[in-house]
Amino acid sequence: MILAQALRNIFRFPSTRGHRALTPDPLERTPMRRPFIAGNWKMNLGCQDAVRLAQQIREVLGSLPDRDVAVCPTFVSLGAVAQVLEGSPIQVGGQDCARFDDGAYTGEVSATILRSTGARLVILGHSERRHVMGETDEVVRAKMGKAREHGLRPILCVGETLEEREAGRTLEVVERQVRKGLEGFGAPDLAETTVAYEPVWAIGTGKVATPEQAQEVHAAIRGWLKELGGAVGEDMRIQYGGSVKPSNVNGLMAMRDIDGALVGGASLKADDFAELVGFDLS
Ligand code: PEP
Repeated sequence: MILAQALRNIFRFPSTRGHRALTPDPLERTPMRRPFIAGNWKMNLGCQDAVRLAQQIREVLGSLPDRDVAVCPTFVSLGAVAQVLEGSPIQVGGQDCARFDDGAYTGEVSATILRSTGARLVILGHSERRHVMGETDEVVRAKMGKAREHGLRPILCVGETLEEREAGRTLEVVERQVRKGLEGFGAPDLAETTVAYEPVWAIGTGKVATPEQAQEVHAAIRGWLKELGGAVGEDMRIQYGGSVKPSNVNGLMAMRDIDGALVGGASLKADDFAELVGFDLS
């Protein structure tokens, strides 16, 4: 209870930790680009713990008039978490979906099955899927198509490895992932899609990209999205992901083309996640 009260105070009196010094112009975001914070719970929390965390987050966050929030539990807990969050502004998403329709694909979860749990979002192309499970751009694109065909809003993850960054290939790699992932998407599908820039070297490592490093790539992504979707590209949201925490979220969110965050580790504790979600928008 004391925790909940403390966090409500954070919301009422947003922190003033000096992000203004960095400040590009957050107010230049188009109205469609409501800040969007999503928690990726990865392969953590059994069903009961996931339900408990969802309950805590719901209690602590209350209403969210000026930002969108989602949590993405494991497939196993999705239905239970969606029930806990029903009627709240917190959306629920999967961490992946199959590139196939329903059928004989043992171990896979289709977009239609995801939807049946109450999920409306899905993370696709996460670096752990690309680099640990070996997903190619083509696989990611096929999953993006299934997600949209079945009414899910995808979060397309893109990002370079440390080796690629050090070789000066960041923009080349990210451009390829963006263009391949969105291949064939028209304006209506683009409008339902979020892109998450997640440098692989910053995920789960505690190393965060500086706001300027992230902004440089976000600005490039914005340019490609505008090429692909015109005005829709201008309105698409681009999240940053990679060791986002309450202590660095304000600096990142002050950047002109950073519209939200995809958060792993810090989304597993209700108080950290709530503090993050309560970043200072002024
Ligand atoms: C992620 O899971 O997408 C992520 C960015 O993880 P973390 O915040 O732990 O780096």
